[in-house]
Amino acid sequence: MTGVAGTQGHGGVAGLVDAVRAGEVDLAALGESMHARMAELYPVPRSLTGDGVRATLDLLDAVAPLERHSVPTGYQAYDWTVTDEWSLRRATITDADGRVVVDTDDHSLHVVGYSTPVRATLSLEELRGHLHTLPDHPDWIPYRTSYYHRRWGFCLPHRLLERMEAGEFTAPYDVVVDADLGPGELTWGELVVPGETDEEVMVTAHLCHPSIANDNLSGLVLATELARTLAGLGRRRWTYRFLFAPGTVGSVVWLAQNVEGRERIRHGLVLTGLGGPGPLVHKRSRRGDREVDRAVGHVVARRGGEQRDYSPWGYDERQFNALGFDLPFARLSRTPHNEYPEYHTSADDLSYVRPAELADAFAALLEVVDVLENDATPRNLQPHGEPQLGKRGLYPTTGGQAANEAVMAMLWVLAYADGATSLVDIATRADVDFAAVRHAADRLSRTDLLA
Ligand code: ZN
Repeated sequence: MTGVAGTQGHGGVAGLVDAVRAGEVDLAALGESMHARMAELYPVPRSLTGDGVRATLDLLDAVAPLERHSVPTGYQAYDWTVTDEWSLRRATITDADGRVVVDTDDHSLHVVGYSTPVRATLSLEELRGHLHTLPDHPDWIPYRTSYYHRRWGFCLPHRLLERMEAGEFTAPYDVVVDADLGPGELTWGELVVPGETDEEVMVTAHLCHPSIANDNLSGLVLATELARTLAGLGRRRWTYRFLFAPGTVGSVVWLAQNVEGRERIRHGLVLTGLGGPGPLVHKRSRRGDREVDRAVGHVVARRGGEQRDYSPWGYDERQFNALGFDLPFARLSRTPHNEYPEYHTSADDLSYVRPAELADAFAALLEVVDVLENDATPRNLQPHGEPQLGKRGLYPTTGGQAANEAVMAMLWVLAYADGATSLVDIATRADVDFAAVRHAADRLSRTDLLA
């Protein structure tokens, strides 16, 4: 298996970030490996609950060992009640000549999620109200769910519906939704990578979508790869907790179940939509100025990405940032949900998500973790004028751009190291990568210049 953990001699994420920056890590192979993992996860008929969720956790568990948790149907978490469990076996529409017109074995999006079980023979007119299409994108299958209103339905390309309406198939149609819908459980997975303190960085990705690649298989594979990588590094300051739960109700249930656990969260990050096109997008936490915002904001800005303020619409950042919890959760994505036409359709598939974007997002995540792990607020111990770097062996005796940048990074650190300004803020102000400022601070700390 291709990966970065264990292949590096460095301890800690800083060494790994330095290796990536030096071109010593095969990111292309890592991107291909994550994409291959998405291909395994893609056909599983996931939903809010049920066998698809458990099968997904099984696949993730093979990458990095998970803890599984569940609560029963009826469990009350604040304003939410856990609904019935739904497991799909197969859903089909077959015409009177025995031709299978629509089949979830071909694509898991073909059935409305949480469809009630049904076996019926219907005219096209009777069936029509149960069919969902996208006339503007007639070759795509829409993604539809009905978690809290009991109904059944099918999703299909509009062109196929047109063929049905043109009489290409023979009515009436046999409709089968072979599924279990009843009391069961809501299931989620957690993966904990312990650190020097029990204060936590929490990373979440939702796992309730069926065959949709960017939203959010990309988040699942990036989070598991990050977990695997961090577990293979020698040293971690924080404990890392990865949460793989169904969207909204899964997060609310976790928050209700972990009244003490949530007090340990120091930084939070929601991962989604990271494999498609477009630059990285940082959605700030509700307060907007948390440490995680400065870390993600710095990394995204350095990579030419975009910063956005919080809004109460989106993914599970809405739950963690809610007033009653007020946890510092930022979100990292590329082009956000609803802003690309493929969103919530069959066109968000394995070809929409590219290995190179996954690898680039992974490198960005490592940089974010580097900031969270290694940011500090040092103090300049020789603040009366510029100190003499040469007599401490800090001034390069040979020139060159890299040497100049190293000197400049030290001068930036000395200029702002007042004991209250953090290294990431200095890096942002200096418009250089955090790693450069981290190195500068390391070098200065080895002399009498910085503490
Ligand atoms: Zn979605």
